[in-house]
Amino acid sequence: MNFHVLTLFPDMVRNGLETSITGRAIEKGLFGLDVVNIRDYTKDKHLHVDDSPYGGGAGMVMQAEPIYRAYEAVKEQISGKHRVIYVTPQGDVFNQQHAKELAEEDDLIFLCGHYEGVDERVLDMIVTDRYSIGDYVLTGGELPAMVMIDCISRLVPGVLHNDDSSVYESFHENLLEYPQYTRPEEFMGRKVPEVLLSGHHANIEKWRREQSLLRTARVRPELLKKAELTKKDRAFLKKEIDGWQDL
Ligand code: SAM
Repeated sequence: MNFHVLTLFPDMVRNGLETSITGRAIEKGLFGLDVVNIRDYTKDKHLHVDDSPYGGGAGMVMQAEPIYRAYEAVKEQISGKHRVIYVTPQGDVFNQQHAKELAEEDDLIFLCGHYEGVDERVLDMIVTDRYSIGDYVLTGGELPAMVMIDCISRLVPGVLHNDDSSVYESFHENLLEYPQYTRPEEFMGRKVPEVLLSGHHANIEKWRREQSLLRTARVRPELLKKAELTKKDRAFLKKEIDGWQDL
């Protein structure tokens, strides 16, 4: 799988992703990261890539041509089909399910906006998907693209040390993950729950499932509507959470 990132700030993207787990995965060739500086594709002699908005108003708008030319250059290196993602606060809010779907693709091209945004015409011409990382506005699309690439790439086989890590965690089956503990057994008077030290796998599984249910019910009750709950889960929630069946 290859991620291509069209950006005005290539160092930011490289520094962010060529670090830690994603950095090791890139070194091992588990996925490719191709960072393209949009400024390299401007024909402007002063290397400008933005201009003021038609109709007036604050700020600058990224021009269509350098982006289109950068996209064409990337497209030439790609053999098959690809998706072009514009990260924007106006897109679908990205979630784990989107990450799973996108992890099936061979090539994803991310377009990072800046300033007031991007000339709509080039978006209409090249973009297949628009994603937001949340209902707030950032200065640029680099962090959102990095968030999405981090999330998608950890679903690529081999990127995580243990591939199960990406399966049994928050949002799997629409539940949040149970609490985790490691050594020492006691920290400043706080002990690890007894059951985790028992070595009794069935009891540990039961405790973890219940903790997941409790956390989800308290923090993200709307997720439970989509979760597949067993009879036991329902009985447990009814006992523990007042009014949970109203969800
Ligand atoms: N004027 C735009 C609007 O109101 O929708 C916001 C532009 S924002 C200052 C600059 C760029 O940052 C956007 O083009 C987009 O690429 C990126 N961006 C900002 N917030 C984002 C978010 N929540 N999710 C994804 N991308 C975002």
